[in-house]
Amino acid sequence: MRPVVAVVGLGRMGSAMTRRFHEAGYDLVLWNRDRSKAEAVAADTSAKVADSPAGAAADAGVVVSSLADDDALRDVYLGDEGVVAGIHSGSIAVDTSTVDPESSVEVGKAVDAKGARFADCPVSGSVSSVEAGTLTIMAGGDPHVIAEVEPLLASISKEVIRVGDIGAGAACKLAVNGLVHGLNVALSEALVLAEKAGVSREKAYEVFVGGAGGAPFVHYKREAYEHPENADVAFTLDLVAKDLELITGLGEKVGASMKQANTGLEIVKKAIAAGMGGHDLSAIAVYLRGSGD
Ligand code: NAP
Repeated sequence: MRPVVAVVGLGRMGSAMTRRFHEAGYDLVLWNRDRSKAEAVAADTSAKVADSPAGAAADAGVVVSSLADDDALRDVYLGDEGVVAGIHSGSIAVDTSTVDPESSVEVGKAVDAKGARFADCPVSGSVSSVEAGTLTIMAGGDPHVIAEVEPLLASISKEVIRVGDIGAGAACKLAVNGLVHGLNVALSEALVLAEKAGVSREKAYEVFVGGAGGAPFVHYKREAYEHPENADVAFTLDLVAKDLELITGLGEKVGASMKQANTGLEIVKKAIAAGMGGHDLSAIAVYLRGSGD
């Protein structure tokens, strides 16, 4: 029998995931700090809205969380009315947020102490990848636990790659985001370079997608880069800064050189100081086109 699924955190990703779970036929219970967002998604997905993360977890066999950062993860799992307070023995909690591996391990231990099970399953892709069911999920945890939630995760992803024990998913996510955020800054610089040297934005982008650097990210961000005035906010620069802080912090902890990521963080912080924190990550090109560095 399919488990009832609790989704905690109805931001951009959590809302899109909920809609996919609904389409796949799961019964849902939702919780979000700002209740109005949970109610809006519930109206489209026949979901119940819970009063607390504990209440959502108590009503579900699987909890999926999508939260902004480490503080949010700790609040939502470890708070008095958090997921851990409500989760039943034998249930599974799957966290898809981008966080520090140490936070995943801490939350995993608390879930384990209740006789429930935890996997850190951060995702690579964007809202559009959730909608298309093409995320890549990097999973940390017991292979049996991951196998149990794979049918659910299949509704939002094209692959679930088990990368190690709890915390390994989070570490791998920081590594892959180092790559993506590096690409984002490099793409922004390359586009603005071409434009300032007299090549049209569209022609330069046509060359980028066709050339050796034409990664999936370069393809799916085309509209946002070519028409930034209409760009949907898929991933904010505030979240990019959070990622790059975690990435460079992990680099320090494990002794990996992260010069490129540190430079990227410096540029992103300047764009945020210029008022762009809530803008889509492609706004780095807008920042460089204007005052820039
Ligand atoms: P978002 O739209 O900003 O949503 C953030 C969610 O976290 C909201 O539900 C927010 O609740 C909740 N939250 C924040 N602080 C909280 C707190 N202290 N207590 C309780 N809830 C709190 O972010 P998103 O783009 O969906 O991203 C969610 C996660 O997925 C992040 O870890 C992000 O790095 C990761 N991710 C995002 C993308 C992407 O393309 N967007 C791709 C891969 C991974 P409120 O609504 O009440 O503020």
